[in-house]
Formats: sequence, C-alpha cells, structure tokens
Amino acid sequence: MKKQFAIIGLGRFGSSMCRELHHMGHEVLAIDHNPKKVEAMEPFSTHTMVLDTTDENNLIRIGIKNFEHVIVAIGENIQASILTVLHLKDLEIPEVWVKAQNSYHHKVLEKIGADRIFHPEEEMGNRIAEFLTSEKVLDYIDLSVDYSIVELLATEKIAGKTLVDLDIRAKYGCTVIAIKQKNKVDVTPDPNETLNKGDILVMIGDKKDLRRFQDGVL
Ligand code: ATP
Repeated sequence: MKKQFAIIGLGRFGSSMCRELHHMGHEVLAIDHNPKKVEAMEPFSTHTMVLDTTDENNLIRIGIKNFEHVIVAIGENIQASILTVLHLKDLEIPEVWVKAQNSYHHKVLEKIGADRIFHPEEEMGNRIAEFLTSEKVLDYIDLSVDYSIVELLATEKIAGKTLVDLDIRAKYGCTVIAIKQKNKVDVTPDPNETLNKGDILVMIGDKKDLRRFQDGVL
C-alpha cells in the first residue's frame, strides 16, 4: 500500500531513507534547511521543500498535519531535532520517528513523545561486529540490549540432524523461527525434517544463548 512520508534532515541517514521509500513507491516529501541538500534529493522524492523546521509556523504552513508519518533525521544539531519533534507532536502527527545522536538525546525524545527512536550508527556497529566475529552469522538484527534475531549458516556438523535431534529450545533457550533453503523460506519448519549443510537457520533469542548455540553446535 502506498503511504505518505515526510523526511526532515537530508544527511546520509535521511537521504538514504528518502531514496529507499521513494524507490518502494511511497510518496515522500523531502525537507531540509540547506537548499543544496534539497536539490540533491529532487530525483529521489515526490516533493521537496527548503525549510527550517524549528519554526512551528513553517511546519503548519506546508501542511505537515496531512502526514501520518514523519521521520526526523537531524543529527548533530540536537536542539533543532528536539524542537522539531516537539512541534510535530504538538501538531498531533501520529507517527514521529527520530534519529537519536546519543543516550541523552534519546531520553528527551522519549519524554516529548517520539514514537520510535533510532541509533543507526550504533545498530550498524553492533551488526558489523557480529559479522566480523563469526563467519557463520549471515545477518543480524538487534532487538534490544539482550535479544537479537540472527541468520546462521548450517555447517556439516548438523547436516543430517533434525530440530528434534538438536533440541535447541531446551538446551539453548533459543528458537528457530524459519529455515531458508536455496530460494525457499519455511516459516513453519518441520522439526522432524533433516537439515543440510548450507541451510540458513533464522533464530531468535538471548544473545548469550545464540552465541552458545553457534559455538557449541555449528
Ligand atoms: P547523517 O549522519 O545522517 O549524515 P548527521 O547526524 O551528521 O546526519 P546533520 O548533518 O547534522 O546530521 O543533519 C542532517 C540534516 O539535517 C542536514 O542536512 C541539515 O542541513 C539538516 N537540518 C539541520 N537542522 C535543520 C533544521 N532546523 N531544519 C531543517 N533541516 C535541518
């Protein structure tokens, strides 16, 4: 379904979001107070606007109230980010998603009602660290400080075994939520089906348990 998004702040994060959402077929309004940034996004957005979003009247004037979903990707200027979010929540925008610069910024954003807060650099850093430390990890999503979802490559050590044989939930406390084989993704994996080398196990659990499973079984 086609949705409408406004993106405020066209640095690396904001402009990547803009390109991707536009590429996915959504309507995207790209906003920045720097005309050069705005111009660069013209081919990758539906509408663009040069605007200082710390002034509430500017936001009202462009009809920001018509947007259900606004992403604030102003990073370095924390004051500008906070003021912008404050106005957006005052204007009752239902979904305001914000890029946070640090934990203090995060706390303030929470207090003023940001609906979702991202730490892209940190999240990407954690992700890359996981890839670097194990060649069995193919993908990784941080759910919280303790929990994650990982895609793990089945080695010959478990080839020919079934999920029942491995007894993963009882022994390791984590769960296989899907198995990918070639182009097929099975989201209700049969616990009695044998695994092959090269299958990809999509697993959810405590990071420590997932690491124990990786080191002990794969
Ligand atoms: P990234 O890491 O995504 O490149 P960043 O964390 O370095 O971004 P900035 O470059 O400080 O963040 O901000 C992102 C964008 O937000 C910039 O293009 C900047 O011009 C824009 N911006 C900053 N303040 C305002 C404002 N008051 N109104 C509109 N845009 C703003």
